[in-house]
Amino acid sequence: MMSETEQRYQAVRERITQAALQAGRKPESVQLLAVSKTFAADQVREVADSGQRDFGENYVQEGVDKIAALKDVPGLVWHCIGPLQSNKTRPVAEHFDWVHSVDRLKIAQRLSEQRPAGLPPLNICLQVNIDGGPTKAGVSPSEALSLAQAVSALPSVVLRGLMTIPDPVEGVDAQVAVHLQAKHLFDELQAALALPQFDTLSMGMSADLEAAVHAGSTMVRVGTAVFGSR
Ligand SMILES: *Cc1c(COP(=O)(O)O)cnc(C)c1O
Repeated sequence: MMSETEQRYQAVRERITQAALQAGRKPESVQLLAVSKTFAADQVREVADSGQRDFGENYVQEGVDKIAALKDVPGLVWHCIGPLQSNKTRPVAEHFDWVHSVDRLKIAQRLSEQRPAGLPPLNICLQVNIDGGPTKAGVSPSEALSLAQAVSALPSVVLRGLMTIPDPVEGVDAQVAVHLQAKHLFDELQAALALPQFDTLSMGMSADLEAAVHAGSTMVRVGTAVFGSR
């Protein structure tokens, strides 16, 4: 008997597979990032036992505690996806593998300086404010290329791509339209930067992962559909 968590996890994997096939893409071209914020380490362990390796956390201390609690599970990859203030960069640089929410150079510089010498470079995505609210987090699309160039010159981080969190919109067509704007910006930057490791477009969540995969997402960040409601 599969547990409810395992059933939800397998259902999300199936949604990703079907969305990729319908979009004419290989299912393995879309990675699942299981967003475990607010869920206990034991629930994360259950999903890890089903084969999941990438987990996303929003709050630094909560994430650091879970990383420590799950040290015995081999091969887990931890992604920081929440807003990051400059006074919180050190534990992120020391414990996480990825940061998706970098939206200014100062944060990337601190992460690079604080990354311990024995660890591989920290993987970074730039958060882009793709649908443009002035108070929203994220670099504006017009400033994304210059930020990407500056970040890619830092020694202890590696620029992997872009991340977006568009406001919810009704209907798959409207969702696809927003995600396609991000895909176009991603393609532009990929061409301009010519960095082989710039390969990640982090977009799509529980409610809109099909639209995101259709538009070209390479990593969907799924919380409630895997773990249940928060
Ligand atoms: C919480 C969160 C998610 C997951 O959202 P769900 O709707 O639960 O799938 C994805 N990305 C970010 C940045 C989040 O904060």
